[in-house]
This record gives sequence, C-alpha cells and structure tokens, in this order.
Amino acid sequence: MNYHHYYPIDVVNGPGTRCTLFVSGCEHECRGCYNKTTWRTDSGHAYTQQLEDQIIADLNDTRIKRRGLSLSGGDPLHPANVAAVLRLVQRVRQECPNKDIWLWSGYTLAELSEAQKQVVDLIDVLIDGKFEQDKKDLNLEWRGSSNQIIHRFKL
Ligand code: SF4
Repeated sequence: MNYHHYYPIDVVNGPGTRCTLFVSGCEHECRGCYNKTTWRTDSGHAYTQQLEDQIIADLNDTRIKRRGLSLSGGDPLHPANVAAVLRLVQRVRQECPNKDIWLWSGYTLAELSEAQKQVVDLIDVLIDGKFEQDKKDLNLEWRGSSNQIIHRFKL
C-alpha cells in the first residue's frame, strides 16, 4: 500500500483530536473529486512497518491524547489496500484500547466484498458512497454529498 499524507495530530477529519492517514488508490473517479492525486495506487509514498508502528505509538501517546484514528484517501477499502488496512485496524483494536476508528470509502456498505467487510467489522464508523457533485452540501458534517451515509456501528 502507498499513502499520501499522515497527520499525527488532526482536528478536522472526524471528532476530537485524531491521527489521520490518507492512503493512495481509488477507482471511483467521482466527478468533482477533491483529491484526484490519490487515485493511482502507486502515487505517494510507501506505507512501511515503521509508519504502522508510529501510528500505534501516536494513538497511545499520553502527552497529546488522541480520540482515535481516521482512515481516508484515496480509498482505504481499495482492493490493493485492504490487507494493509486490515493489519492496521487489527493492531489498533489489540494495542490501543478505547480508541475509535473512522473510515471513509467510496464503496457502499451493501457492495463490500468479504475481505472489505473484515475491515469494516473492526471499525466504529463508516462513511460510505461516492462523492456525487449534484448532491454536494457544505452543511453536512463528515461527508461531502447527501447520498453518503454515516454508519455508526459502535458509537
Ligand atoms: S471516492 Fe473519494 S477519493 Fe475516490 S474519486 Fe470519489 S471523492 Fe475522490
């Protein structure tokens, strides 16, 4: 997996103070996409074991308390990303008690594969669906267009 940006302290993408990872790779090609440079799976930088360890350490950093992890992109559920994202969310569940996981994906909940569902089974909140320009609404919280749904599994 590749990624574009990692923010160890972020107060914009999800509630509270968070760690946020923007991964590379998206096949949805939404018109009006705000993040086209992330579409190619080989764009950005290599996601390494070192970065995975850093994310876990940042989530457990008691000096600046993080509420949880946000995963966006690109699409964290792109087939090329699922294995690495699954490993990361498994580690967060095992090593970072009481941290929530929010994930933004262009796939809808109904169309997820079994592999993608394994990831979604471990997260707290999924914001799903493509960005649809004619349903764009700047007043919406945590989503860009009104077709997208916030699925709160655990919160
Ligand atoms: S799902 Fe997100 S990153 Fe992918 S094309 Fe649509 S708006 Fe862009």
